[in-house]
Amino acid sequence: MTLTTDVLIIGGGATGAGLVRDLARRGLRCILVEKGDLGTGTTGRYHGLLHSGGRYVAKDPIAARECIDENLIVRRIAPACVEDTGGYFVATPDDPEDYVEQFPAACAAAGVPAEEVSVGELRAREPALNPAIRRAYRVPDASLEPWQLVDGNVTDARSRGAVILPYHQVVAMQRSGGRILGVDVADVRSGTITTIAPRLVASAAGAWAGRVAALAGATLAMSPGKGTMLIFNQRMTDTVVNRLHRPADGDIMVPVHSVAILGTTEVEVPDPDHYGIGREEIALLMDEGEKLFPDIRAMRLLRAYAGVRPLYSEEPTTEDDGRGISRAHVVIDHGRRDGIDNLVSIVGGKVTTYRLMAEQTADEICRKLGVSAPCTTAGEILPGQGDGSFYWLGHRLADHEDTGGGDAELICECEMLTRSAIETFLDARWPCSLDDVRRGTRLGMGPCQGGFCTFRAAGLVADRAAAAGGDTATAAVADRALLDFLAERHRGTRPIAWGRQLQELWFTTGLYQGVLGGRSLIDVDGNGTSGAGNLPDAAESEHVVR
Ligand SMILES: Cc1cc2nc3c(=O)[nH]c(=O)nc-3n(C[C@H](O)[C@H](O)[C@H](O)COP(=O)(O)OP(=O)(O)OC[C@H]3O[C@@H](n4cnc5c(N)ncnc54)[C@H](O)[C@@H]3O)c2cc1C
Repeated sequence: MTLTTDVLIIGGGATGAGLVRDLARRGLRCILVEKGDLGTGTTGRYHGLLHSGGRYVAKDPIAARECIDENLIVRRIAPACVEDTGGYFVATPDDPEDYVEQFPAACAAAGVPAEEVSVGELRAREPALNPAIRRAYRVPDASLEPWQLVDGNVTDARSRGAVILPYHQVVAMQRSGGRILGVDVADVRSGTITTIAPRLVASAAGAWAGRVAALAGATLAMSPGKGTMLIFNQRMTDTVVNRLHRPADGDIMVPVHSVAILGTTEVEVPDPDHYGIGREEIALLMDEGEKLFPDIRAMRLLRAYAGVRPLYSEEPTTEDDGRGISRAHVVIDHGRRDGIDNLVSIVGGKVTTYRLMAEQTADEICRKLGVSAPCTTAGEILPGQGDGSFYWLGHRLADHEDTGGGDAELICECEMLTRSAIETFLDARWPCSLDDVRRGTRLGMGPCQGGFCTFRAAGLVADRAAAAGGDTATAAVADRALLDFLAERHRGTRPIAWGRQLQELWFTTGLYQGVLGGRSLIDVDGNGTSGAGNLPDAAESEHVVR
């Protein structure tokens, strides 16, 4: 089967989602393909910070200005995805005085609002912070939910005719001379191959952009930079806290929903699909985190996770240098660069600047296709933004009380997630895995990390499979969903399995293996082997992270 379209977008992270929305709003026919679920690349594994730009004022003032401009736009177009926490840049005794002194002027030059606050005021607001902090500036940092943001963008695009295909991977491209004629896309769940014949291919494949370019016969030098983050079981602050020094490891704490995330590290990895998290990274993060929060070692760690930065490592051209363009992200016209007229790549950047990246890429695509429609993404609010208020932590409880309270049939207590909320998600997204449900609803992402909610939600997924007339027994579907989900959650728990977290890991493992009989789960594959091979075991030693 061959499909035709104006633009084929590869990659369903924030950038691809922003691009499909932008192009669809300009009247172009678009198909977006994503090899996993939407937002499962770096966008779903980032730190969660809507940057004010304060982090970049010294190193890259252009990127800082882009951040604050887009921060204000994202707040306007996606308020339900933003928790308006505010943020502080704080000087600990370890931070250099000259950087502290230059910070306000650098912020002013980049247009980043930064107001000095007294240490007393800071400590009153955030008592867990190091009492030795000597200076503090307030900035408009915020916490940003990635999956809802991606969903809002693709929903808008869909309503304008765009086709969105999660679990579809680009596996080959056919070229004739300077043009890509067809792109082979594999449905990773069924194995079916579809050929798409687009007028133009736009790669928003993040850290995988080099591999996608290679399918077209182009070379794109990417150096994927892995960053590791730690999730703690409660918020230590209600605001984002950054160290007042040149960006380095372990220097930001972001409150994200009911938990807190400390990050990050930076380690170049050869393969964005396979990498581990080393104990030494965890130790480094804890050592640095302690400079902000002296009691950090008494807090319970929930898990470690990592994402891979889509870093573009080619030397800047003289032309770019002359215009003083930030290297934070780059739109590459492969016509000029490699003689492939209908291929454009967008690389680098941040979730904060996803809309701007999409706009600049769409401008280039429209130029190449002779389309003159302007960008409209900054002015229109995304679908699914409720009453236009920012997200706040107690909203699920408040919503529940508004509808009468009482027995809410809670599936996930930590995230106040009801049965009806999960059913609504399954209605909209079926077929999907339990892990897709996690991303869409935050199932299992709170302090118990799925210990008590997973088996309940697995039953709902199984009911849905049975209702959809699948030929697999309901119990087997539930078992498979449960095992896959637990295996995924377990990967992030291994690197931090010591002390109280090791106790928690044994406890959860005991729940599933002992109380729920996980070890005796039925032959879910029908190949004579038990599904128990996938059940996390606290004694396993490997911790490869996907
Ligand atoms: C540790 C870390 C912390 C970060 N923290 C922040 C932060 O706090 N704030 C911020 O603004 N930014 C942050 N960033 C940067 C930000 O996360 C990324 O720049 C951004 O998510 C990139 O989005 P993207 O859509 O370009 O890439 P991705 O989200 O990676 O999307 C690319 C997609 O392409 C898909 N794909 C690849 N190959 C194929 C193929 N052949 N066929 C189909 N699909 C394919 C992948 O599956 C992937 O989903 C952080 C990055 C890292 C690594």
